[in-house]
Amino acid sequence: MGFTFEVKETDLLGRVGEIGVGGKTLETPYMFPVIHPVSQLIPTQELASMGYRGLMTNSYIIRSRRMEEALDKGIHSLLGYDGVFITDSGGYQVLEYGDLEIGYREVAEFQARIGSELAVTLDRPTGYPQSRPVAKSTVDYSFQNAKATLEEYGDRKTVWVGPIQGGLYGDLVRKSAKALVGAGFGFLALGSPVQVMENYMFSDLVDMIMAARRAIPYSTPLHLFGAGHPLTMPLAVALGCDTFDSASYVLFARSGRYMTRSGVLTLQSMKYLPCSCPACAATSARELTEMEHRERTRVLSLHNLHVLREEIEACKEAISEGRLWDLVEEKSMAHPRLRDAFARMARYSKDLEVGTPAIKDRGLFVRSTLDLLRPEFAIAKEKLAGAMKKSSKAAMIVQGEGAETEGGDAYGVHPVLGPYPAELRFQYPFSQTEAAQAQNVPPDPKKVLKAMGYDRVTAPPSGQRKPARSRRTRRAASPSPRASSAPPR
Ligand SMILES: [Zn+2]
Repeated sequence: MGFTFEVKETDLLGRVGEIGVGGKTLETPYMFPVIHPVSQLIPTQELASMGYRGLMTNSYIIRSRRMEEALDKGIHSLLGYDGVFITDSGGYQVLEYGDLEIGYREVAEFQARIGSELAVTLDRPTGYPQSRPVAKSTVDYSFQNAKATLEEYGDRKTVWVGPIQGGLYGDLVRKSAKALVGAGFGFLALGSPVQVMENYMFSDLVDMIMAARRAIPYSTPLHLFGAGHPLTMPLAVALGCDTFDSASYVLFARSGRYMTRSGVLTLQSMKYLPCSCPACAATSARELTEMEHRERTRVLSLHNLHVLREEIEACKEAISEGRLWDLVEEKSMAHPRLRDAFARMARYSKDLEVGTPAIKDRGLFVRSTLDLLRPEFAIAKEKLAGAMKKSSKAAMIVQGEGAETEGGDAYGVHPVLGPYPAELRFQYPFSQTEAAQAQNVPPDPKKVLKAMGYDRVTAPPSGQRKPARSRRTRRAASPSPRASSAPPR
């Protein structure tokens, strides 16, 4: 079975892409809802009608509970769903139940025979907390199984997904990812983020994802196991995770937790339902509270699935508009630990340049000091370094129509980057940046220019400065339609 991954649009390390597998396609970023193969609270057909074109389920549970039927019918007929199935190996259950009869061969043979499009090879989740020797043993065990599976079952229609383990040990994660790439895996999955996220260790999550992402080719898709939270998904997408799986929609629902795009609420203390999805539109907070537990869980699950889908769509739209940074930043305001994680992400700004377009349709906002680390500014800084050339004895800081000057080199002033040659005015993002006054701390333009060796630096009197925009010259000077100097929105 062929496997393709086509990247369509990028921002930071996030991308909108398309996975092609078994003649089916999935647009990414994508979250696979996890379903129980024996009892489904939400019928698979209903999930399909909500727009979920791929599901994850556990091959170990199918094997132990419905083996004959699954081998006879195949997974799609068994579960009444014709979208993409990714099956987990059930490595956790194998360990938990001490099932010594199950090795990588049994797991792979079964997944291939029931017709999973994507299947994770038998692994051992590292978990958290974990000692280094145990973490290393999970990496070795998972890798040996993965390599052997690919060698022996690589010709099957099922596409094998290589599980990266190592937990919070960055070097082990790196080693694990590199080894899987070397063995020939074209789709990798990063394990063990669940407990890390449950403990609000989002900064560690950032390091963990980056350790994996740095070790694998940019064109290789990365799955993040068990990550289905509307607050952390944009962060993971920005760091280069393409797909997710999660049972959070139903786990949260069971304990009466109601997802929103800005956090999780507890039904018990809610008076209103701030959502207009079909599930919420048909009920009220009070009715929902009084419902019988199973029905309430069902309604809450449907609502949570709706929110998760919305979040994924928001990530795609943000990538397409070049505002993924802004989306991650907005989410970071929901919790101090998320704010820390956003700051950690900003430290990887250099890595984030890879997928950040050099020209964007939207202007850039500077709302906090962290925004000064946006990769767009680093890219512009490189452009600026080559353009700061002295060709006269005098420099003039100019604004607006006054840009055409005689007898001196003309400079504009960027709120973050400081002085720049006026001819860059219509190149992104020199005049397309809007900074909050409190964050407006550019280098003193006069000092910078004097340091370049100018004898004289003149500037318009303060209070008379106008934004450096002129409709007439903008049209003439725009290098391409995409570089238009549209004001920030
Ligand atoms: Zn709803």
